[in-house]
Amino acid sequence: MPVSHRLASYGTSIFTEMTRLANEKGAINLSQGFPDFDGPEFVREAAIGAIRAGHNQYARMSGVPPLSNALAQRWQRLTGQTIDPDAQVSVTNGCTEAIAATCLGLLNPGDEVIIFEPYYDSYKPCIEIAGGVPIVLTLAAPMFGLNRDAFEAAITPRTRAVIINTPHNPTGKVFSRDELAFVAEMCIRHNLIAVTDEVYEHLVFEGQHVRLATLPGMADRTITLSSVGKTFSLTGWKIGWAIASPELSRGVRSGRQFLSYSVATPLQHAAAAAVSSGGDYLEAFEREYRQRRDLLCEALEEIGFIVYRPAGTYFILADHTPFGFADDRAFCAHLIDEIGVAAIPPTPFYDHVEFGKPLVRFAFCKRLETLNAAIERLQQLKR
Ligand code: GLN
Repeated sequence: MPVSHRLASYGTSIFTEMTRLANEKGAINLSQGFPDFDGPEFVREAAIGAIRAGHNQYARMSGVPPLSNALAQRWQRLTGQTIDPDAQVSVTNGCTEAIAATCLGLLNPGDEVIIFEPYYDSYKPCIEIAGGVPIVLTLAAPMFGLNRDAFEAAITPRTRAVIINTPHNPTGKVFSRDELAFVAEMCIRHNLIAVTDEVYEHLVFEGQHVRLATLPGMADRTITLSSVGKTFSLTGWKIGWAIASPELSRGVRSGRQFLSYSVATPLQHAAAAAVSSGGDYLEAFEREYRQRRDLLCEALEEIGFIVYRPAGTYFILADHTPFGFADDRAFCAHLIDEIGVAAIPPTPFYDHVEFGKPLVRFAFCKRLETLNAAIERLQQLKR
């Protein structure tokens, strides 16, 4: 067997698999979450300008100063907290690398890390590669609420960290201030590190995005991860970052230096232009996504799905059981083969797969015409 024992059980990621199938079968791809439209022109032009200006050699490992500075200023704008751009901002190859670097740089063998299912697919393998032990708690439909008793009961003397993804992929849940206050209380009482994956922070349709790092006592024990991919529709650029205390940042960086070492220099300069941009862009961005969400939610309901309307992210989780298929894989196979639409079967995001079998995830980061074409095909489910 060429694949290591550590990773063999993970196979190929469901995102890769479904996009490959969608391309092969000519299905409309509402599976992997990437936009079918381009990022803003001013950011793309900034990248071209940076290449022409000669920003083409290795970047500083923690990030080029213009991007570190822009991220520190943005953090100040968003949270009111002043941070040191050189010591507290670490630029990474997407949030995915930030997760890996955080696990490698901060976990010791046997350290337990609490995560919530449905989980983003890289959390578990990254924890395990670092020698840690994932402890999986369930966010259960229909509310996907934090089960406080289960959380408290899961904490042991070996618990080192908790990973919170808010807004949450794939449920669309936005963790409430109360839930995060409870997480904060547990972290402080049990001396845990909080890692927050906030890549959908600007896609919130109901309620408010609360940053765990802003709750009392949490600034020094939270590693906040985000990226430009979703917010600026540039998922292929793979520009992410970790914001944390100087101590925790040292951990992230010690993992990071042996992964990709540094991030594409011209794209970092362009990302600095993106994250420095004003609120107009974000307002239009949110408005357009709200329209896409409403369109697809209403259509899915009309077609017969039980829809868990997302408060955030660009994903919709729906219950497909009214259509009578055995599980999520069978339903998604029918969708792609007979209906011509690709979606994600969510069981790969669960340890307790029974929670995922009735569900299907649709991505709505697509042009309205793409969504309308998919909706037209999905009408066939009614027959
Ligand atoms: N974040 C994307 C999604 O949830 C997938 C990214 C990937 O393919 N690894 O669809």
